[in-house]
Amino acid sequence: MARRKKRSSTTVECPFCGEEDELFVDAGGGSFQTYEEDCAVCCRPRTVHVEPGEEPGEFRVWVERSE
Ligand SMILES: [Zn+2]
Repeated sequence: MARRKKRSSTTVECPFCGEEDELFVDAGGGSFQTYEEDCAVCCRPRTVHVEPGEEPGEFRVWVERSE
């Protein structure tokens, strides 16, 4: 299902527990960001990647497991 992205938050699926979680992105942090954040549901560490989206002001967010 396609989801319209809001400007400062998006929904990601946790790579550990699969729960969907709303992630807030600090747009002032730059177009490319990588940071670690614990899952709000299972509390396991994951790496969050933020990249520019196809349109100005949009961004793409994906997460992977942190070691
Ligand atoms: Zn989780």
